[in-house]
Amino acid sequence: MKTIGLLGGMSWESSLEWYRRANELVRDRLGGFHSARILLDSLDFAEIEALQAAGDWDTAGVVLARHAAALEGAGADLIVLCTNTMHLVAPQIEAAITIPFLHLADVTADAVRDAGVDAVGLLGTAFTMEEPFYRERLESHGLTVLVPDAADRATVHRIIYDELVHGVVTEASRTHYRGVIARLVASGARGVILGCTEIELLVRPEDSPVPIFPTTALHVTAAVDAALA
Ligand code: GLU
Repeated sequence: MKTIGLLGGMSWESSLEWYRRANELVRDRLGGFHSARILLDSLDFAEIEALQAAGDWDTAGVVLARHAAALEGAGADLIVLCTNTMHLVAPQIEAAITIPFLHLADVTADAVRDAGVDAVGLLGTAFTMEEPFYRERLESHGLTVLVPDAADRATVHRIIYDELVHGVVTEASRTHYRGVIARLVASGARGVILGCTEIELLVRPEDSPVPIFPTTALHVTAAVDAALA
């Protein structure tokens, strides 16, 4: 089994889920006492969030590249970055390592296409929904990507930063997300990407009339597949 190098803590609420699911999956695949080989580098999200808010992506890239290289030096065979947003600096990370980097948008696009969906809604932080890095990566796989309107994007972003990364899950916010998803579907989405690793703590399949694509779950499965290949 290969060792997964996990850049986490962004936020730890979703990294916890990532770690639990990876171990469950390895147990299910290999049986007995097996569990996942993981090197976890869990960052202080305050440092990363401050860089996001300041728009200082260059420094964020330097920080994450340094942590990724350290994971490689410690023996990781592949790197996963447990946040969609910070894939904005994926090129800097990839340039700093010689082992594979399992890009979350590629993993997600493969799942969307495998489900036969071509027009897909994208929910995530404002950075993920509005900057080109994620949408264009999805589009490079032949997908049409729809994002909510400005008011809905603000709601989706606010709930992530004010609630979900702090472990707060409320029925009121679930209702907001249901409305956003319904409007994406009305504008043509045939599936919805939960493109923020905390959203699947809130939104369940029954909250959407079309298939949802939960990025934490998809990323774990792809990483474990790679680790056991
Ligand atoms: N975990 C979130 C994501 O997948 C948001 C937190 C962050 O900005 O890293 O985008």
